[in-house]
Amino acid sequence: MNTSRLRPEDFETLYMGFASPPARFDCGKKCAPFNEGVPFCCDSGWVVPVACHEEWNYLESRTSLWHQFRPRSPSEYKMVEEVDAEQSVFIECRGARHCERENRSVSCRTFPYEPYFDGEENLLGLVYNRVLEGKCYLVDRHRVATKKFIGEFLRFFNRFFELQPGERELYIEQSRRYRRTMSRRKSPLVVLTPEGPYEAAYRGGKLIKPWRSPDPPESAYRPGE
Ligand code: SF4
Ligand code: SF4
Repeated sequence: MNTSRLRPEDFETLYMGFASPPARFDCGKKCAPFNEGVPFCCDSGWVVPVACHEEWNYLESRTSLWHQFRPRSPSEYKMVEEVDAEQSVFIECRGARHCERENRSVSCRTFPYEPYFDGEENLLGLVYNRVLEGKCYLVDRHRVATKKFIGEFLRFFNRFFELQPGERELYIEQSRRYRRTMSRRKSPLVVLTPEGPYEAAYRGGKLIKPWRSPDPPESAYRPGE
């Protein structure tokens, strides 16, 4: 039965176990110069964090960093209307200059990654949330995420899915969609695992072999174009 047992106070320990940044360097320094000094993922003009109500209740009780996102354009109104308001809420922080690391939302901590399940519903690793593809420096740089980050990410989601089984189903479906997208593009499906990056099969999603190709050179990062 997919019953949620998640409580706002669970975020205290969930956050504590998931505090490491993805990379050994500050990736915000790579992308911010191309967005008037603000990292793309911290600018609600590019991407708006979404939280479940339990997380939002927890954050509201603990900090004034966050408020509910107020849409400003027709496309933002549409985005807000499309989310299931009983499950989730769009939130916005006071801006990168006011960031409180310990009060970052799950969206902040995970970006630009999401859990990856194979066709038999095994959680194998991380793939990219491609919403800021071309802007986010980390997307498709398969050797950047540290082992520590990947371990924390997977422990976080294993616990989160125990408490909120419905989320697991969403990511299982999302992983199927991801396989279809990468297959259509004829792009390799690379999964970041604790043992390093692996190429996975479009059909069935199992890991096939370690990913050996080097990451793109620095010159390939052109978010201004
Ligand atoms: S995660 Fe991506 S978009 Fe966010 S700060 Fe790092 S490089 Fe920039
Ligand atoms: S809380 Fe921090 S990491 Fe999250 S969006 Fe705001 S500035 Fe970025």
